[in-house]
Amino acid sequence: MRALTVIPQQAGSLALVERAAPAPDPRRALARTLSIGICGTDHEIASGRYGTAPEGDARLVIGHESLAEIVSAPPGSGLAPGDLIVGIVRRPDPVPCASCAAGEWDMCRNGLYTERGIKGLHGYAQEYFAIDPAFAVRLDPALRRTGVLLEPASIVAKAWDQIARIGARASWHPRTVLVTGAGPIGLLAALMARQRGLEVHLFDRNEGGVKPALAAQLGAAYHTGDLAALDLRPDIVVECTGAPAVIVAAIEKGGAGGIVCLAGLSGGKREIVLNAALLSRTMVLENDVVFGTVNANRRHYALAAEALTAADPAWLGALITRRVALADWRAAFAPDPDGVKTVIDFTSP
Ligand code: BGC
Repeated sequence: MRALTVIPQQAGSLALVERAAPAPDPRRALARTLSIGICGTDHEIASGRYGTAPEGDARLVIGHESLAEIVSAPPGSGLAPGDLIVGIVRRPDPVPCASCAAGEWDMCRNGLYTERGIKGLHGYAQEYFAIDPAFAVRLDPALRRTGVLLEPASIVAKAWDQIARIGARASWHPRTVLVTGAGPIGLLAALMARQRGLEVHLFDRNEGGVKPALAAQLGAAYHTGDLAALDLRPDIVVECTGAPAVIVAAIEKGGAGGIVCLAGLSGGKREIVLNAALLSRTMVLENDVVFGTVNANRRHYALAAEALTAADPAWLGALITRRVALADWRAAFAPDPDGVKTVIDFTSP
């Protein structure tokens, strides 16, 4: 069977290799991969800046955004052949910390968690994979074309869940949200904001491509140019770019008593001057919150599945702007400045 693997921390080592199919295991389900989404983390891994192979293995099978079909499953597991599933990314740390012990591995405190396709565990970018049914999420068959968006949607569902929990610290009736970055995470954040009845402003550097139309179809305003100059004091900001200048402007944009959620992973090393005294003074006087969020637990996957099921299938389908066959995997890593989500199709030869 074919698998997309990398030697972690070694740029240029990404390769499609032959690997043995998973050995039969009575406790695990066997799944046939349909598609794998590629995100910024995969690019970081491919360029040798991130990722860890399982102990004793030189190579790591990548792929953490999955969509697969069950081939066989243990009796009583709740899974049956033909079921559409997505594999959860993170596994709890073995200690476990208080969060992992409570099934909240996304909040792991000791950093000893593992992540399929990223940290210490092989991922899903292989033609077949074995999975503990407790970490497989069943999807509506109607999501066969777009269910690969569940993992990024789970990240966003967690962000919204955290925003709501933080908001509950006081009587709060948010109306407007600013989402910075109209990539898959930003667009899914905008979708979930619209599903919550919020007025959505989407900011991105891209003036062309499909993004302005995707925003319009959601009923969201689309802005480009200088974020600092935007005349807006949103109740909520969801920052999805990870770009230092945008992060600072996004924090400054947040309204009084507002919540700024940092959901974009910053890969760069660019330094930026921040007036910490002014920032802390504003945050204190306005009861502002800035927080970071990563990963998702099983509850968030379920919330994300509900959000995807409720979304317009044509709009969701339009987020997948590039689909490449597994044999053409290199094309999936080529720059695509106007695109949104790239997916590798494991069903074509
Ligand atoms: C994944 C998360 C993961 C994070 C850090 C992201 O790309 O979507 O599941 O926790 O990378 O490794």
